[in-house]
Amino acid sequence: MGGFIGRILDIDLTSRTYKIHSTKEEWVKLYSMMGYAIRLLYEEVRRKGMIDPLGSENTLIIVAGPLVGTYLSGSKTAFVSISPLTGYLGKSMMAGSFGTMIKRSGFDGIVLRGVSTTPVYISIVNGAVEIRSADHLWGKKTSETFKVIEEEIGVKNLKIAAIGPAGEKLCRFACIVSNEYRVAGRTGIGAVMGSKKVKAIAVYGESTIEVADKRSLSDLVRKHGEACLKSPRANALKSYGTAGGLVTYVLDGNVPIKNWSKGVFEDQDPAKIKITGQVMQQIYKSRGKSCGTEVPCVIQCHKEVYVDGTWVKHPEFETLALMGTNLLINDPGALITINRACDELGLDTISTGAVIGWAMECYERGYISKNDVGFELKWGDVDAVLNLINMIAYREGIGSILAEGVARACKNIHPNTCDFAPHVKGLEVPAHHPRRYYTIGLVYATSNIGASHLQGMTFLLERGVALLPEYGVEEPPKSLEDKVRSVVITQNLCNFLDSVGMCKFPVFGVIDFDHVAKVYSAVTGYAVDKDEVMKIGERVWYLERLLNLNLGLKVVEDRLPSRFSEEPLNEGPVRGSVCPIGDMLKLFYEYRKLDKKSGYPEPAKLKELELDTGL
Ligand code: SF4
Repeated sequence: MGGFIGRILDIDLTSRTYKIHSTKEEWVKLYSMMGYAIRLLYEEVRRKGMIDPLGSENTLIIVAGPLVGTYLSGSKTAFVSISPLTGYLGKSMMAGSFGTMIKRSGFDGIVLRGVSTTPVYISIVNGAVEIRSADHLWGKKTSETFKVIEEEIGVKNLKIAAIGPAGEKLCRFACIVSNEYRVAGRTGIGAVMGSKKVKAIAVYGESTIEVADKRSLSDLVRKHGEACLKSPRANALKSYGTAGGLVTYVLDGNVPIKNWSKGVFEDQDPAKIKITGQVMQQIYKSRGKSCGTEVPCVIQCHKEVYVDGTWVKHPEFETLALMGTNLLINDPGALITINRACDELGLDTISTGAVIGWAMECYERGYISKNDVGFELKWGDVDAVLNLINMIAYREGIGSILAEGVARACKNIHPNTCDFAPHVKGLEVPAHHPRRYYTIGLVYATSNIGASHLQGMTFLLERGVALLPEYGVEEPPKSLEDKVRSVVITQNLCNFLDSVGMCKFPVFGVIDFDHVAKVYSAVTGYAVDKDEVMKIGERVWYLERLLNLNLGLKVVEDRLPSRFSEEPLNEGPVRGSVCPIGDMLKLFYEYRKLDKKSGYPEPAKLKELELDTGL
């Protein structure tokens, strides 16, 4: 099949040996590549039983789908493991060229097993694999790590994915950062890498990635590029990156404010909101960067700003919301510094912002004191936030409790604080607001990795920014039935896109899934239509669900923090609204054909999806 290399690199860190396996075509067809990694993980769980996410028995699987390196928005590399935050499936997608280099170096993916006794980094250059000592890198921040490895390997255009001190110290929401400053942010994948004592993976390759039908593909690339240029959504992303959405979302009531306890930020006055992409670009010189080495994405949503003589990453929307509106910080320079600190230390900005917001509420309500923290922890205090970020990454003082994630920390501080701890299944809640868009509440409650907005981008459908007429969603869903249906559809589609390695931004609201199906067919030579696209994504969703059930998932964990469903706000755009999660969950279970008590899918559903054999 085109787009696939046919080989997977399987490294045993305990013995410091590696093998190369053939990629199984049957699994590729059933699940595409991220789903392939989840199936591999499923087999591991079946063989080993319960797995300690930070123990030697956990496996980290990194895969690049068929579209990676072959198509304009084929940029996403999947990192899959058991999450140290949730104990269930962990996965996170990294944009940029890391996956392209894995494929150009001769592999569809890399499997990391076991644990090294001493720190190492892995060098893969044109298929040659070396496990090198990283004693001299342990403790270093990410930028320094990149510099040293780039010098040591001495190859131009090397792509590196590394952990910072937070991953080394097993902070449960540590992330993996690339030398393009793209991150696999969510579910604590960086802590898994740290537990294996792998500081970094560096890859470079020159081989060509073959596709099945080059001529059709170049026509599809051209049409997609034209669609991007015509699309208001794509153009907004091109101009300001994801940060451009902040002002709209504040006015819409679709951001966290003061740990989700307030409905108004800066009087809802656009002139007073200084942390938007638009304002930052007035203050700082900026530039856009594209994902993709072979076929660059035309949107270039990755923005950089010029600060103190250097180009640095522009914070994304999620960072601006979780660290900005959530903590009542309205200072663009401070947010650039906070963002940089998290990337250097290897911390997921979403979970970090959520944990600090919860800690600030604990402080305000007297559950933790100045003595506990070492300084005052007041809303909007930038120095306090920066201090706490460091303490979390290095597990110093109260930072060690917070590094466990909000679900564990609340039990440690005081059980009452769990009432306002924003997480689902242990994963901290990102920026989109379930009181505003009910569908996103259901996405959080039923996502197989915990609260993630990228597991069903339904807020775009509810806002009418993206519709899916090809799947019968011709207008924003209004009834609860339609809302639930739109969640199921987008969960499946997001899983498909993740599995083939395609970025979601240039899809929803830009092109339809007939086009996506044609792209998949042109790259792989495996003819699919929009219905088969849906089926692959659906199959992956149920496979994830089965994996979690095997790891002990209970139906009570399909939930939403009560703040969203029982505590209405008395001000702002979402005043009086609560997410009717109970009613939606009932409908969801019916729609997904899940048993209400056990949470297991009905056997007929599994048979329909060819998941009934041995799973
Ligand atoms: S939209 Fe942004 S993240 Fe997605 S492929 Fe393009 S540049 Fe990369």
